[in-house]
Amino acid sequence: MTTCLYTHPACLEHDPGRHHPESPARLRAVLTALGEPEFARLERREAPEATFDDLLRVHSRHHIEHILGAVPRSGHVGIDADTVLSPASGTAALRAAGAVTAAVDAVVSKEADNAFCAVRPPGHHAEPARAMGFCLFNNAAIGAMRGREIHGLARVAVIDFDVHHGNGTQAAFENDGSLFYASTHQYPLYPGTGASSEIGVGNIVNVPLRPMSGSGQFRLAMTQHILPALDAFRPELVIVSAGFDAHRSDPLAPLLLDEADYTWAPEKLLEIAHRHAKGRLVATLEGGYDLDALAASVAAHVRVLMSA
Ligand SMILES: [Zn+2]
Repeated sequence: MTTCLYTHPACLEHDPGRHHPESPARLRAVLTALGEPEFARLERREAPEATFDDLLRVHSRHHIEHILGAVPRSGHVGIDADTVLSPASGTAALRAAGAVTAAVDAVVSKEADNAFCAVRPPGHHAEPARAMGFCLFNNAAIGAMRGREIHGLARVAVIDFDVHHGNGTQAAFENDGSLFYASTHQYPLYPGTGASSEIGVGNIVNVPLRPMSGSGQFRLAMTQHILPALDAFRPELVIVSAGFDAHRSDPLAPLLLDEADYTWAPEKLLEIAHRHAKGRLVATLEGGYDLDALAASVAAHVRVLMSA
């Protein structure tokens, strides 16, 4: 089996400010973990920049020009209270989205079985016309649209186990039955969306979880709601919004998952990918703010992809 790892040094240069939780140290911790000998078999690839056309499949022209035009020559520019641009942010955001589009190309063309995109900024809060929640462009949605529009896939799914709801992905998908979005997330919590009543055109499955839910409730949400709906959707490509901030050590929310859950979840998702999508699965990094937990969780996740 071939698992590709997409990343780019530019993703380390995006700097939202000294005390911001979405720090370059996150990606450094991930890349250090994936530099261990057990990951030597990963096929490492440099993420290209996403093209304007790739971004336009999800975002408005105004949004793309607004974000890229707001990148400062020096210092920082705030897009909202949480979302901050530094001089390298535009390039980093293009590489992050480009990682997912390239990974989609690689799994569809059978160059790889699956892929992990170690990128930042994350993407799942970015709506078609709004950046928010540390996110500028919606990397997962952009990859999904490329699978559908360029590769002609009939059905593409995004599964999101970040502790926050992916309001951006839901907004991009909710009127289109050829796309599927399912999320477990702590609720209520930022960004405030993700109630179980939000179902799109029958293509959205939200399973809100109370604080302190832990592994049992998470796995129940997956096995009772998300996995059966995903199976019934019969995806031709599975994209994972892989956020690891539901880990019990994470400072942003107490959902209390652990590394074993980050082994279990991709195993279940790969079963469905093998049943319907020839095993095609692309995971992209979203949140995860405790550096040790993030590194261990990504390692657990990627270990499963490599053994798929
Ligand atoms: Zn998150």
